[in-house]
Amino acid sequence: MKFILNLSKAWEKRIKRNEILAPYTYFRIGGPADYFVTVKSSKELKEVILSAEAAKVPWFILGGGSNILVGDFGFRGLVIKNDAESANVEGKELTAESGIKMSKLAAFSIKNGLAGLEVFMSVPGTLGGAVFNNSHFRPEKNEFIGNLVKEAEVLLMNGENRRLPSAARISSTGAEPESTPVRSVASRPACRQVLDWHREIVNRDWFRFGYDYSRLHDETGVVLNVRFRLKKSDPEKLKARSLELLKQRNSRQPIGQLSCGCMFKNPDGMSAGQLIDDAGMKGKRVGGAVVSDKHANFIVNTGGAKAEEVLKLMDWVKRAVKTKSGIDLEPEIFRVGEFSKGDPNDPNQHPNVPNREFELFGCH
Ligand SMILES: Cc1cc2nc3c(=O)[nH]c(=O)nc-3n(C[C@H](O)[C@H](O)[C@H](O)COP(=O)(O)OP(=O)(O)OC[C@H]3O[C@@H](n4cnc5c(N)ncnc54)[C@H](O)[C@@H]3O)c2cc1C
Repeated sequence: MKFILNLSKAWEKRIKRNEILAPYTYFRIGGPADYFVTVKSSKELKEVILSAEAAKVPWFILGGGSNILVGDFGFRGLVIKNDAESANVEGKELTAESGIKMSKLAAFSIKNGLAGLEVFMSVPGTLGGAVFNNSHFRPEKNEFIGNLVKEAEVLLMNGENRRLPSAARISSTGAEPESTPVRSVASRPACRQVLDWHREIVNRDWFRFGYDYSRLHDETGVVLNVRFRLKKSDPEKLKARSLELLKQRNSRQPIGQLSCGCMFKNPDGMSAGQLIDDAGMKGKRVGGAVVSDKHANFIVNTGGAKAEEVLKLMDWVKRAVKTKSGIDLEPEIFRVGEFSKGDPNDPNQHPNVPNREFELFGCH
């Protein structure tokens, strides 16, 4: 794939070719991106996205890589790794760029005696990824990142170019294969003009936060900065609380192993992990991918696992749970890139890959 990004000369050295994506993911799985660039500020993030849009290059925002499964054949286009991570505090308000790691954000808020974010100390990934999916720590205690957001600066496409509702999207891309158990929200706008983007300050309500959901699942948009309104508290108490929660988490999850966290969403009032355990799937293996013995909703890469093996194991888990308890598990992770060779128009593409359908349907 060839394209010209309208960026200054200084960027040329920073754009890598055929960069293997596995090391940038918690799973350590995934083939090469045609092009790869790391941005260090939200200004750079915006600049690169607009250039990619102008060049009609498919792009993907990569945060910490803790909630994605990248295909074995990589990504055709430009992957933008978001390392924009400045943060500041004014009174009870904390503002941060979206590439900041959640652990760093939590530590920063603790240091400044601000309560709320300390529970996210052990949640991997970046702030942008957390807002995208409304990260939670203990959902039963209503600990969702979205609850703390006051407003955010986002980069959005203008209204008429936004994604189609999901039903329309599925019918326009063709049905998703039944055997593919990875989230089906994936799509880009069926047709749009390029460069119709704008920056907007939006409030919490705009995101329509839900369980593992924000409006960004349905509209192509990028979080640049987030402002939180927090409560004053004693830094020592906050630190003690966050360490206690960290300890609890470490005792329950296969920490230190390569995984993407929970693979399936908890169905209403039930634990996906318990359902998987009840279906006798703990320890089941496909190649290098294994259902964790410690937490059945985790699949771990025990060494050299392929994305294809993870998908097969997820499919197996899904079928076993359906047979045992009649429940359809829904994937919590997102799938990015190519999962089979020479199939660049995979309809299960990820929602944050805007330009693909543009090319696919040729609606220029
Ligand atoms: C061991 C482990 C434990 C976990 N525990 C939890 C948990 O307790 N609670 C929980 O909620 N999750 C948990 N997760 C899942 C994961 O940490 C979260 O979903 C996290 O918020 C993903 O952030 P990320 O930066 O890694 O996103 P990535 O995996 O890099 O990307 C995920 C999605 O977010 C999008 N995205 C990233 N940045 C932006 C941005 N700036 N603007 C718009 N979209 C963006 C990406 O394009 C992609 O679509 C866990 C994962 C692991 C590996």
